[in-house]
Amino acid sequence: MGGANGLSDFRSDTVTRPTPGMRRAMAEAEVGDDVFGEDPTVNRLEERIAELLGKEAGLLVPSGSMSNLVAVRTLCRPGDEMICEAESHIFNNEQSAYAQICGVAARPVQGLRGILRLEQLFECIRPPGIHHARTRLLTLENTHNRGGGTIQPFDELTRICRWAHQSGLVTHLDGARLFNAVVATGIPASDWARHFDTVNICFSKGLGAPVGSALVATKELIAEARRHRKALGGGMRQAGILAAAALYALEHHIDRLAEDHALAKRLAAGIAEIPGLTLDPEVVETNMVFFRVDPAWGSASLLCERLKAEFGVLMLPSGPQRIRAVTHLDVGPQDVERALAALSQLMGAKVYPVGAARV
Ligand SMILES: *Cc1c(COP(=O)(O)O)cnc(C)c1O
Repeated sequence: MGGANGLSDFRSDTVTRPTPGMRRAMAEAEVGDDVFGEDPTVNRLEERIAELLGKEAGLLVPSGSMSNLVAVRTLCRPGDEMICEAESHIFNNEQSAYAQICGVAARPVQGLRGILRLEQLFECIRPPGIHHARTRLLTLENTHNRGGGTIQPFDELTRICRWAHQSGLVTHLDGARLFNAVVATGIPASDWARHFDTVNICFSKGLGAPVGSALVATKELIAEARRHRKALGGGMRQAGILAAAALYALEHHIDRLAEDHALAKRLAAGIAEIPGLTLDPEVVETNMVFFRVDPAWGSASLLCERLKAEFGVLMLPSGPQRIRAVTHLDVGPQDVERALAALSQLMGAKVYPVGAARV
């Protein structure tokens, strides 16, 4: 049970370790100097991810944060403004690098579980004029992390992006977990990507690679993005070792995301039965489970500390009373039962023996 250290680690799908098959692919990767464009495995990955997303070209970058940053840098000029969802990763979790490094302002709009409606955006485009920033970019996140691993409704996303382009904006998708949305909906990655000028994909989340993300777009935009990646220090040399892991993940770890989703539903169903815990949001759509702890019991951080110290179960406080648990490659059904038994015991509910059938 649990990962290599015997812990059941639900903090994030980034904690996955490369599988033996993935390590073999990395060890055997053909490599070259990628800054010279000479790493055949990187080139293969960039072609493959572009093809999967129906775009002309791809660019391997060290992290999702750099991928989003390079996208903003490529699409915007200083003094431009970016419309984004108020709980989005790019707005909250990347040090406002769009502002620090690109000189771009953000216009956050509060969605519901990370989901925006088109009518909320009509007022967000500033009129031209010497007093105003230039509204330039719209970013969406799919699946939406803090929203609860929620999937953007495809029709609304289509309407929003169509309106954005008709209004002269460009669009970026933070698709760190786009393949979770693909597997959950059956809508191909290229259909989602069609509505965006640039798309970020993370290999190091649910796909289970140790390092790496990709930006995909037209050849012209990726040529420009490649320049910005180099300026930001993201030009890597024999990166084929990393690209091999990402290629392996694309081949072997997409369909299995369905297992993570089923396990998250199982975890959520168990949590919903425990007094003092409530799911937030109630419906779990992909691999993330957020729940709230009754303040009468104590704080989210106290519950997480006790889960770890007394039961070897790791979860992430994501607010004073809110906790995040994420399923992934390195947790199985036994880890879920262990977590539910631990939560039941700590909350003072009936204790279910680990691995026992529950009804
Ligand atoms: C993880 C994540 C990123 C990028 O994170 P890195 O840690 O920089 O790879 C971007 N967007 C979302 C929604 C994420 O969850």
